[in-house]
Amino acid sequence: MVKDPNVTLGIFRLKRIEVFCPTCSRRGFYDRDRAIERHGADCTMFNFFQAVANCSNPRCLVGCPDLLYMFMDVREVKQKWEY
Ligand SMILES: [Zn+2]
Repeated sequence: MVKDPNVTLGIFRLKRIEVFCPTCSRRGFYDRDRAIERHGADCTMFNFFQAVANCSNPRCLVGCPDLLYMFMDVREVKQKWEY
């Protein structure tokens, strides 16, 4: 999953943030504007995921599938996750 420290809630493009972990099968949806109110626009996506997932699994890969589409080549995503 994308853990780029430069990606913040403030530059996330979609109104709804999907949080998904392929390791522990968690899935949830968060309102972006509410997330910014709560965590601040400068909060990185990585920190946001860690905060909302609160996962104890050391292999946790919590992240947002939409982030992959935004910052990665789609073909690369398909190869990796087979969406
Ligand atoms: Zn997890």
